[in-house]
Amino acid sequence: MALVVQKFGGTSVAGPDRIREVADHVVRCRKRGDRVVLVVSAMGKETDELIRLADAVSETKPGREMDMLITGGERKACALMSMALADRGVEAHSFTGSQAGFLTDTAHRNAKILEVKPQRIKEAVDAGRVPVVGGSQGVSTDHDVTFFGRGGSDTTAVALAHALGADSCELYTDVPGVFTTDPRLVPEARRMSTISFDELLEMTATGCPKPAMRSVELARSLGVPLHVRSAFTWAPGTWVTQEDPMEAAIISAVTHDTSEAKMTVSGVSDRPGVAAALFRTLAGADVNVDMIVQNVSEAGVTDISFTVPHDQVDRASAAVDAVSESLGSVGVITDSDIARVSLVGAGMKTNPGVAATMFETFADSGINIEMISTSAIRISCVVREDQAENAVTALHRAFQLEKAPEDRELI
Ligand code: ADP
Ligand code: ASP
Ligand code: MG
Repeated sequence: MALVVQKFGGTSVAGPDRIREVADHVVRCRKRGDRVVLVVSAMGKETDELIRLADAVSETKPGREMDMLITGGERKACALMSMALADRGVEAHSFTGSQAGFLTDTAHRNAKILEVKPQRIKEAVDAGRVPVVGGSQGVSTDHDVTFFGRGGSDTTAVALAHALGADSCELYTDVPGVFTTDPRLVPEARRMSTISFDELLEMTATGCPKPAMRSVELARSLGVPLHVRSAFTWAPGTWVTQEDPMEAAIISAVTHDTSEAKMTVSGVSDRPGVAAALFRTLAGADVNVDMIVQNVSEAGVTDISFTVPHDQVDRASAAVDAVSESLGSVGVITDSDIARVSLVGAGMKTNPGVAATMFETFADSGINIEMISTSAIRISCVVREDQAENAVTALHRAFQLEKAPEDRELI
């Protein structure tokens, strides 16, 4: 009898019909002999709504109160889900994160899990009930309600699956698995039946919203088998594995991210300590710098460009302004209209020519590359934001990602 943690995202529980369908699915799983623990997100776009409400009444938005507000979305969803299960003759109990044993630090709006003590969840399962846990929440060492941040319900599910010793953690969403690229953007995108943790991590770090990156990191470090699948078709989805997948592909996926801006600090002196001073200042301002490029220096001066999340641009500008003069800089330019397009694949380690094909594809489409960065299994290029969709579609086609890996011709 398998023990399965099933997490349902916002769209999967968006309204009464969806909640009833999920409840029917749970009944089917139990008939098959599985023991099921549910984790639910807030219904539909409720988290966004709650944040909008807070924006409308408050400028200060204290973290403690924000967490109390936002976690209410998940509480509502888990109570409704338990009621739908009760109607089907399944004894279900809703639990807040605190009741489910999630102890966190005190970093409101972005709390980290310190410990999971799922005693009450274990007792419920042993008693034949279905526990339904509110996602993305816990209780802090100060006894306050905490929220894990956006997308935190995936992390709740993974941590709970580990703490319970579950056989697997199923993340249900509105697409039938992890695709070779966003299926809303490229209709020919193909669902992968398996993907390695390393590749999925690179994908989630470069714009794939599903599953949340933090949950993939946690699942990898705890060794929790993940299954990303559809709450609409209920068909098997994508298994995330430690090993390289069976259907070894050179390239697995194309991702894109428009959430960052590019900043260029121009005319800085080319001497030891300049980059150190600049990025130490940015770190001190709590700015997450991503890609960094330094130009060849001419007459002892150079330009340094880097990308930062849009919502950190103001912070980053203020920090750079404070030091730029001492670095000899003649100015700072912020460019918000960029996108990062990335190619991910474990096979690129051993196959030369992947970067060349990527750059040729952009050249053929008239797309200019502004920055390039690589890891062992990823190549990212910064391009104009309005060319991002073209770039994704062209790369998907050039690497024949719409075909099964064994049917792709070598490039
Ligand atoms: P949930 O609300 O279920 O937690 P999200 O809405 O955050 O999930 O993420 C699901 C969405 O991610 C899908 O609707 C899909 O359009 C998008 N997406 C982008 N890239 C991919 C990809 N490579 N594979 C699957 N889905 C993707
Ligand atoms: N509902 C929250 C969000 O949308 C948390 C989650 O579901 O993961 O970010
Ligand atoms: Mg969604």
